[in-house]
Amino acid sequence: MPAPGISSPSARTISKVPEWRIPLADVDLGPEEEAAVLRVLRSRWLSMGPEVEAFEREFARMLAVDHAIAVANGTAALHLALRALALQAGDEVVQPALNFVAAANMTLAVGARPVFADIVGLSEPSVDPEDLERRITARTKAVVVMHYGGYLCRMEPIVRLCRDRGLVLVEDASHAVGAHWLSGAGPGRAAAGTMGDVGCFSFFSNKNLTTGEGGMIVTRRDDLAECLRRLRSHGMTTSTWDRHRGHASSYDVIAPGFNYRLDELRAAIGRVQLQDLERNNRRRETVVAAYRRRFAPRPDWIVPFASYAGESAHHLMTVVAPDEPTRQQTVEALRRERIQTSLHYPCVADFSAFRTLEAPALEHSRSFARRMITLPLSPGMTEQQVAEICGVIL
Ligand SMILES: *Cc1c(COP(=O)(O)O)cnc(C)c1O
Repeated sequence: MPAPGISSPSARTISKVPEWRIPLADVDLGPEEEAAVLRVLRSRWLSMGPEVEAFEREFARMLAVDHAIAVANGTAALHLALRALALQAGDEVVQPALNFVAAANMTLAVGARPVFADIVGLSEPSVDPEDLERRITARTKAVVVMHYGGYLCRMEPIVRLCRDRGLVLVEDASHAVGAHWLSGAGPGRAAAGTMGDVGCFSFFSNKNLTTGEGGMIVTRRDDLAECLRRLRSHGMTTSTWDRHRGHASSYDVIAPGFNYRLDELRAAIGRVQLQDLERNNRRRETVVAAYRRRFAPRPDWIVPFASYAGESAHHLMTVVAPDEPTRQQTVEALRRERIQTSLHYPCVADFSAFRTLEAPALEHSRSFARRMITLPLSPGMTEQQVAEICGVIL
């Protein structure tokens, strides 16, 4: 029996609780990610350097965009985007009420005010361009959209609206890495995150591409890219890596910034994950198609985005129950079978921290939040598991 101590594997292994039989999400990590981490450890350079630079280059190439800037997480991406776009106290940022709280929190963090817009409806829980437009005032400076579940918002009217009204457009593409918009008019096939001024991505562990914690900002604007890079690292004009290589010996600080850098270990994992993204998104698509077939004979259940025409990243599998009690009973029945579900999302305007803001009518967002269930979805799921889950629900 090995002696207990720091070198014993058991002392280093942390058990994962609780054990869901079918978890909501699962990571696809294999020997290639392990080899990438080992390569970085052996290189003895762990903070932002060549792996981060390579990850940024490869990510930018995949999206056909000029600049990709790796950051510590998706929230940092949103924070830097709003800072680089010079938002300040008194400015209003119109954004969806049905969203993760990060965009609203970062709006407050730059001193601006979030103004919430409703979704299109229960079968399309993306922000409604017409409601976005109704929320615009003389103080509105920016719009943040979020591509819910990996399905792009109605970008043509939103891009046009922002252009006509002189507003900057931020895409929270945390759900939509690898998703594309297909358009007859306009740009044709465009990647999520590349249609506004800035696109933000998260690589949190339940996202389609994961580095544990991590994020990316993309932009076509040279001026913003330079500003974002500086803000990421304390407003400094050179990096530790530059100085390590002898490319610089000192630095200036141009404007106050943050430490929102990504490290080499995570970037190396991200590079492997990027190579598998297309395949894993296609696997997700197959699982979603299996769910949709099972729900097809039951029109009392809404499966959103049934008539979606673009290429989704299939980040979330969501369904809308016929009513609130059915939702609750279904969630409990699934829990008894140790099948994990979730709620994406409670209406942001209803959180205690945001209740002081003027609360507009957000009928569809609130109704969706009361009736929706997020079901398990990951690239490794089988048709058998989908059948089992649907057997409990329907
Ligand atoms: C995950 C997520 C974020 C935040 O990303 P972190 O990397 O966790 O900071 C922001 N917006 C949306 C829509 C998300 O799903």
